[in-house]
Amino acid sequence: MKIPQFQPFLDDKEYQAIKSCFDNNWITEGPKSKEFIDKLCKLIGVKHAVLAPNGTLSIYMALRAIGIGKGDEVIVPNFTFIASANAVEMCGAKPVFVDICDDLHIDLNKCEKLVNRKTKAIMPVHIYGMACNMDEVVSFAKKHKLKIVEDAAQAIGITWDGKHAGTFGEVGSFSFFADKTITTGEGGLVVTNDDTIYEKLLFIRNQGRIDRGSFIHPEIGYNFRMTDIQSAIGLSQLEKLDEIIRRKKHILFTYKTNLDSSIKIIEPPFQSSHIPFRVCITVPGGGYDLMDYMKTQGIETRTFFYPLHKQPAYQKQKTFFSKLFKKDNFEVSEKMYREGVCLPSFVSISDEEIKYICDKINEFLREKTVGIL
Ligand SMILES: *Cc1c(COP(=O)(O)O)cnc(C)c1O
Repeated sequence: MKIPQFQPFLDDKEYQAIKSCFDNNWITEGPKSKEFIDKLCKLIGVKHAVLAPNGTLSIYMALRAIGIGKGDEVIVPNFTFIASANAVEMCGAKPVFVDICDDLHIDLNKCEKLVNRKTKAIMPVHIYGMACNMDEVVSFAKKHKLKIVEDAAQAIGITWDGKHAGTFGEVGSFSFFADKTITTGEGGLVVTNDDTIYEKLLFIRNQGRIDRGSFIHPEIGYNFRMTDIQSAIGLSQLEKLDEIIRRKKHILFTYKTNLDSSIKIIEPPFQSSHIPFRVCITVPGGGYDLMDYMKTQGIETRTFFYPLHKQPAYQKQKTFFSKLFKKDNFEVSEKMYREGVCLPSFVSISDEEIKYICDKINEFLREKTVGIL
């Protein structure tokens, strides 16, 4: 059997959606995009939203819209996709890395000592289809007068205590890349309840003007628009969201019932909903051997995120971060990287495939235990 890590969940509905753009003879941002934005605002429970070409640029726009720029510092968890930090760097600001808790989300206790007069914002990242503890983030931000930019790239449909991810602070960012919960191929979204931030976003994304077709540009802006073709795909994905959530929960359940009870599956606290973006397990002592073995059995797995403070790309900033690079500062993210394994959990995976994966994992761990004895 061959089981990939991921497969997009597309069918004739998306194909017909694309065709409808051709039928309308409208491919740039237009009626489909408006409908997509309206439906997303309703789903997320937010006043304003703008589309973006991808989730990296949507974080960038979000940061710019709240005024992050040169010389500023933004606290970013070191356990995330590197784009979270790169978007800060793109603004000319510094991402300041901090460790995570066992639930894979930002450790606010370790954030305290990072705050200085340059610190302007904090970026909680909602990881693997679970929500960050936003009660803690909001009170931390209030205490230190920081703005909140939520990286909710993986968190469409995810709530903390009933409130949708991305709506707790000034701005929130989502991604519609192919492996996110719903996709438009590439794509992103910035949400806000603040009218002034919304207006800034409009300027930034459309060449520094609000109206299309005008050549008067009150501000410097760029082209961060999307297309109606992508929005049309997004609309048909949104129609499948309930089905996607149901399937994802079933996948997690099937893993839980078939994996040996000694294997730890990471799950969020009760305040967070859970739409497993990945089914994540930790293997005490290290996940590498298991991943190698799975490969020989035709199963594609993934490691957890490589901690950002160890990324080759960020080593040149080591002087700047030197006081933060003390060994035990990042122990949780380092342990998670060593022990974490992401199992295939794409919507169309079959129960039979999941059972095969579980059999292989159980078999491997059993043999390993016997080997040690
Ligand atoms: C995917 C992702 C991004 C970047 O989104 P793109 O659409 O790929 O640019 C940023 N942060 C996190 C946590 C992500 O998972």
